[in-house]
Parts: sequence; structure tokens; C-alpha cells
Amino acid sequence: MSPAHVTPVASGPVGRPLRIALLGESLVDESALEILVEGVLGAPFARVQPNLRARGWPSVLQILPAIARHLHFNTDADGLVVLVDADDSEPHTATHEAPGYFHPRCRLCQLRAAFRRATRRLPAARGRSRVLRAVGLAVPAAEAWYLCGLDERVGEEAWLAGRAAGRSPYTRRELKLRVYGTERPTLPQAVAQATAAALRHARDLRRLENDFPGFAALAADLRGWAAGAGERDAMLSEE
Ligand SMILES: [Zn+2]
Repeated sequence: MSPAHVTPVASGPVGRPLRIALLGESLVDESALEILVEGVLGAPFARVQPNLRARGWPSVLQILPAIARHLHFNTDADGLVVLVDADDSEPHTATHEAPGYFHPRCRLCQLRAAFRRATRRLPAARGRSRVLRAVGLAVPAAEAWYLCGLDERVGEEAWLAGRAAGRSPYTRRELKLRVYGTERPTLPQAVAQATAAALRHARDLRRLENDFPGFAALAADLRGWAAGAGERDAMLSEE
């Protein structure tokens, strides 16, 4: 799956496919994330298994440092991609992107900071100075991404407006019901719906990027990998 309008950017040292570890809140999220990451990179990548598995927030935040260190020292991973749901926490906005800014109640900012703390003093290992990272935030949950383009009411802007007005435009329960047809899908049901939605977006990511800045941030990180691959050492010395 390499959409024609996507320029392939994904290759590691000596042109081999990138090796990437995925960390999400569930197997369902990770199965969709794999497809979306490939869609952004425009080329297949090899999955690297993390040493730990998270189930929900805050376990992702808690195990992130150990996973980052494990990938750095014990694997040939080029990068780690993390995706969490915002639930009722602060959505990541453009103001959070200011240099040195950090929002303590934004999970995307928290994950970036945790990764940075865990990795900034690590010595080079396995022929590279560091493992790259990409972080996404699904607002309020990954099911909103799966409905993007199908339900005009669903998007981060609507969610933010609802928060400001003190009334959510929809609940996470309603999103699940719309995506899966039930609040309690079986694992195969959930994976089937999530991956179908991810494949739909991977063919053309523009709508998802436009309506969900928490996905756009993830995509920007991934596209930055191509630019950063040859400049990693330079970037490191700037920090
Ligand atoms: Zn943020």
C-alpha cells in the first residue's frame, strides 16, 4: 500500500526498511496505527516488538521510559511511535508547539517530555545516536479518527468547542457504538473496523490531518524522520 500521491520517505540506513516499534493503548489501536504509519511514510516498515505492553493510559506513560531504553540498547529499532487517547484531558494545540512550552495536562506533551527525559543522556548504541520518536493524540479517542470523513460532526474543533461550552458534542461511548455497532465489540470485530478505517485514511490522509491536529502532529514527527535521519548527530549536539 503506497498511495501514488505520497512520496516514499521511509528508509533507514543503507536503504533498508525502517524498523519501528508501536505503542498504543490496545491491540486494536496498534493494528490501525500500523496502517496509518505506513500510509504517512509511504513505504512498508518492519515491526519491532517492545519489551512491555501497555493497556490504557496511564500505563503507556509509565512504561514509555523503559521501552525507550530497551529499544535503544537491545534492538535495532529506528523509531518508536506512540498513540494514546485524550479522553477528557487537554487536547494538544498549536500553542503547545512553542519552543520550550509544555502543557502538564496534555498527554502528547507529557509523552514527548517523558521520552526526552528517558533518552537524552543515553550513549550511542548499535550504530546510532538515538531512537526517533513520533507521538499522536486521538481526541477524544481513536474511534473519532475512524469516523473522520463519515460523520461530519466528529472532529477536534467540534470537541474543543464543546469543551469550551461545557458540553461535549458526543461521548466516547457514542463513538464506540457508531464505529463498532456495539459498545463491547469482540477483539476481531474491533480490529476489523479499526483497520478498515485506517486503510480508508491511508489512501488519502488529508482529511484526517486536517480535522485531527493530534494526528497531524504524529504525521509531522514521522515526516521529520526522513529529514532527521542524516542529521541526527547534528541535532543531538544542538540539544
Ligand atoms: Zn500538548
